[in-house]
Amino acid sequence: MKESAINIKKVTKKFGNVTAVDNVDLKIPKGIFLTLLGSSGSGKTTILMMIAGFHEPSSGEILLEGELITPIPPYKRNIGMVFQNYALWPHMTVYKNIAFPLKMHKVPKRDIANRVKHVLGLVQLTGFEKRLPRELSGGQQQRVALARALVFNPKVLLMDEPLGALDKKLREHMQIELRRIQQNLSITVVYVTHDQEEALTMSDSIVVVNEGKIEQIGTPRELYERPKTKFVADFIGESNIIEGIITSESKDQLKISLNDSIEFTFPKPKNLKIKKKCLLALRPEKINLLSPLQKSDREVISVNGIVSEKVYVGNTTKYIVTIGRNLHLKVQLQNRSDQDDYNIGDRAGLEWFKEDFVFLSD
Ligand code: ADP
Ligand code: MG
Repeated sequence: MKESAINIKKVTKKFGNVTAVDNVDLKIPKGIFLTLLGSSGSGKTTILMMIAGFHEPSSGEILLEGELITPIPPYKRNIGMVFQNYALWPHMTVYKNIAFPLKMHKVPKRDIANRVKHVLGLVQLTGFEKRLPRELSGGQQQRVALARALVFNPKVLLMDEPLGALDKKLREHMQIELRRIQQNLSITVVYVTHDQEEALTMSDSIVVVNEGKIEQIGTPRELYERPKTKFVADFIGESNIIEGIITSESKDQLKISLNDSIEFTFPKPKNLKIKKKCLLALRPEKINLLSPLQKSDREVISVNGIVSEKVYVGNTTKYIVTIGRNLHLKVQLQNRSDQDDYNIGDRAGLEWFKEDFVFLSD
């Protein structure tokens, strides 16, 4: 088996009586872009700080390319870091900001010049050597910070919400840039963000962190299409989370009733213990709205409802459609010119493919 870049083994970190990181097991393969995704206070930064060596785990071990690094001080770990507050030295030029750590490590002057030139090329800042940080835009400053982290050829690059201070357009541009650099260098990146869209855009693999624990690990598509828990279904994108009652059960089929409004049969999910009461997730954009008289012959669930809320958001329109007395489903439709428009109070048919239902374990 390929050796992991980082192997986190049963790591717990306590600050007094706060358990910031709770028995985390995580193997990070070499050369991937992995994102720790979670809300504020979930323990993401603490995990990074332990990899970097600024915090010591209360228990457990961390290995870097198979070597136990817990006893090794941060500056000897050969790990690059970039943070939101990039902290460039304000009185030093771009060149000096990047060269300074190399000088400290007594790298020969000639090598320093070559290495600085190389990393400035990587982040597309060739020609900016003589500028001071205040003469650069936020995005350019962040690139200098990145160049400084890359100049040691680190085995792993850690990034903690590095784009948080940038405006939306620039952030989206930098997301693509960072991804390009990561792929060019085939470097292992551990990236931290609370922004689910950013995580979906950039990552090979996403680790959803909740209250110091790993909630689910998967590719962006796996997490979005097949969330395992209510937390993940809710946190990544939008979901209808619907309580169902299993009214009968055969060897491989379930009959499920939703709020006494819809009843349908469903193939039994494997590897999931199903209780009589179950939770199902359904993405708003998986539901189609049509005029109530239309009847589709696809393998779908179809039901009538009344539009109770409507929000126009440019590329899509978001609706809430009420079925029966109190089943409210979020529906999201692309604003194509051939798409019918619905108003509050309109009757509408809803339909979706059965397989778009995801069973959750709570
Ligand atoms: P995140 O980066 O996901 O926002 P953190 O890892 O910073 O979360 O924090 C996780 C938890 O640990 C929070 O409850 C936070 O208050 C606590 N914590 C983090 N660092 C310290 C510290 N140095 N001392 C005490 N508590 C801390
Ligand atoms: Mg943090």
